[in-house]
Amino acid sequence: MKPLHQNAMSALKPPRVLAAINICNYCNNRCIYCKEGRREGAEYASLSLPEIKRNIARLVLEKKVEAVILMGGEVSLRPDFMEILRFIRSLGLEVGVGSNLVRFSDKKFLASCLKHISFLEVSVPAITEKEYRVITRSENFNKFMRGLRNVAAAKVPVTVNIVLTRYTLPLVPGILAFLDGVMPAGLRMVNFKIPTLRGNAQEHADKMCGPVLALRRLKPLLIEWSPRMLLMVTGAPLCLMRGFEQFSLEAFVRFAGHREICINHRTLVFGMDLPAREPFFAECNACRMKGFCAIPSERAGRSMFDNKLDAGKILGRLAGRLLLPGAPR
Ligand code: SF4
Repeated sequence: MKPLHQNAMSALKPPRVLAAINICNYCNNRCIYCKEGRREGAEYASLSLPEIKRNIARLVLEKKVEAVILMGGEVSLRPDFMEILRFIRSLGLEVGVGSNLVRFSDKKFLASCLKHISFLEVSVPAITEKEYRVITRSENFNKFMRGLRNVAAAKVPVTVNIVLTRYTLPLVPGILAFLDGVMPAGLRMVNFKIPTLRGNAQEHADKMCGPVLALRRLKPLLIEWSPRMLLMVTGAPLCLMRGFEQFSLEAFVRFAGHREICINHRTLVFGMDLPAREPFFAECNACRMKGFCAIPSERAGRSMFDNKLDAGKILGRLAGRLLLPGAPR
């Protein structure tokens, strides 16, 4: 049997046109890496129901969107959440939901949502209470674990996002083993995210995990786990690492050639369009490493999957330059 990652294209079958729409920034957690930043009362924001409907209808009409993923904040906290799901389904679109799983600790609520939801993208910050509390700055651990087990039992297709902090890195093997055991049916992909220094992460820069450290620690894990799980990494120059290109979610998205449209990518700011380009990678702007990339963007198209570059040298070159407090950006 081929390793799972070699079948990534067929295993994932991403929708051809997917729109990610950020509909609110309130949340029941306060993760140290959250891009939404510090929010107190008046800073909470959300799109109104008519705005959401208008935007999605427009996406269908103008961009031929086939699937929508609702992002937040924590979208399941919206009082009109079910109505939004029903509306999207009424247009014949697939619906995905990004969630921290806390509300899905309620089985009944989950069951009613799953009548409309086709896939979930869930955050798994930790599977131990102490670390969960430190990372999310919430007391939601028990609810989160119940939510995770409920979702696993429902066998809904799930992508797990793990944002890498210095707390998280040592936990990764345990998290993978746990997911392997608890979610044998629904787990579609595990995506390691290297955090950006935005929002809350600015205050916690010393606890974030940059690409150099992350890749050093992840490499053996990627090798060990990839025959069992589809693993991806976001925000790291894997396109330059011979033999590791297939773990780059950015490269995958580009290579798979589907369009991903991020609306309100920064909360409530309308309109960022990331079309797949022809030929793939002709302009490499998916990975946020581009400022430090060893390959100038105009040559990226030719070099992306056929490089002679040594990963160790690249990591050495990047060492100390990225995502560290005071580092040049
Ligand atoms: S990262 Fe997600 S779960 Fe954590 S505070 Fe931000 S929106 Fe909430």
